[in-house]
Amino acid sequence: MKLYNLKEHQEQVSFGQAVRQGLGRNQGLFFPSELPELGDVDALLDMDFVSRSSKILSAFIGEELAADTVTQMVSSAFQFPAPVAKVKDGVYALELFHGPTLAFKDFGGRFMAQSLAAVTDHDGKITILTATSGDTGAAVAHAFYGMDNIKVVILYPKGKISPLQEKLFCTLGGNISTVAVNGTFDDCQALVKQAFDDEALRQDVGLNSANSINISRLMAQICYYFEAVSQLPKAERDSLVIAVPSGNFGNLTAGLLAKSLGLPVKRFIAATNVNDTVPRYLQNGQWAPEPTVPTISNAMDVSQPNNWPRIEELCKLKGWGLGELGYGAVTDEQTAETLRQMDAEGYLCEPHGAIAYRILTEQLEDGETGMFLCTAHPAKFKEVVDEILEKDIDLPAPLAKHNAMDLLSLERDNDFEQLKAVLKSVQD
Ligand SMILES: *Cc1c(COP(=O)(O)O)cnc(C)c1O
Repeated sequence: MKLYNLKEHQEQVSFGQAVRQGLGRNQGLFFPSELPELGDVDALLDMDFVSRSSKILSAFIGEELAADTVTQMVSSAFQFPAPVAKVKDGVYALELFHGPTLAFKDFGGRFMAQSLAAVTDHDGKITILTATSGDTGAAVAHAFYGMDNIKVVILYPKGKISPLQEKLFCTLGGNISTVAVNGTFDDCQALVKQAFDDEALRQDVGLNSANSINISRLMAQICYYFEAVSQLPKAERDSLVIAVPSGNFGNLTAGLLAKSLGLPVKRFIAATNVNDTVPRYLQNGQWAPEPTVPTISNAMDVSQPNNWPRIEELCKLKGWGLGELGYGAVTDEQTAETLRQMDAEGYLCEPHGAIAYRILTEQLEDGETGMFLCTAHPAKFKEVVDEILEKDIDLPAPLAKHNAMDLLSLERDNDFEQLKAVLKSVQD
């Protein structure tokens, strides 16, 4: 598999290089030079999740990794289902929250961990360093947990992530070290950047990032769109509209890639909260990001979505007009109202999924089948959901288990020397 840098097309890399590097020169995103032909999509839809996903990912990766290796990677990564639930006639929820950290990021994070392990030289040291404000850190920590030749260091702002989130990934131990930094999320990101800029340190501990724009994550996410369609009654597969709650737009990119591989999807809808750079752009052609506004769907509080250039490239290559994309943006009040409506209809949701549901049901036309992505388990946003629905929702087993465990985080100041010492110590 070859990929090129969207900012400097002459930079071409292999799958392995793209996974290891994350980004190309000049912060450019990698994009596949060729989109594979999958042949008979109906036959593919008849296969089970792991076999089908292995086939799709192997077609992408090509000769670089043996098909057996890819199958092993997929079976280790996808150890939980992506079920489709019927919410009401003609409207389905794709539940992507049955993994260890209860959000869709488990699919991408776990396949990325497998990919990185498959394409790195095991004699060298590898230290994954990342900063998190919640979801990504948890997915990365759980994905790499137990891969003893890879050490993971995760920084987060002390006291500024929800206690439930903190318990979920700061209780693992083993090859996972978590550092509560006396500072803000921006301070954590600045420390990470400083570490990557320190060439000697980078070599010494084999620094690597688990960045959300890594191509292996997107590839993994393509697979659950196929899995979703495979669970629909055949009669409802032909006029399918899928609404995607979007922040950095990785999920929508993966959906469009699935369509480019032949998955029958009539239309996608980009659903956002009031951080609506993309809906405004689709409406008036002006790319005009505004300062990010905090909302109750905080995983989508992004005003400069970093995957957008991939969507533009794909549409250009396929000759799809951006006008074919549906879009919409929802306020917090509307999100709350929708959560209550869904609850009355018998489906417990959380803010991100509710945004997609609202825009989907507003825009669905007669004869179409609708599906929306549920990107996180309602209990992950328990404080917000409990308040809106006046309930006390149960913690699912993985959250309850970690919630009862002791925090193992180190506490450090916003100081590069202290971070450096931590990075060196995990490799000793
Ligand atoms: C990350 C995240 C999103 C946004 O997904 P993108 O791929 O960045 O658009 C939506 N919902 C939840 C719960 C998330 O964690």
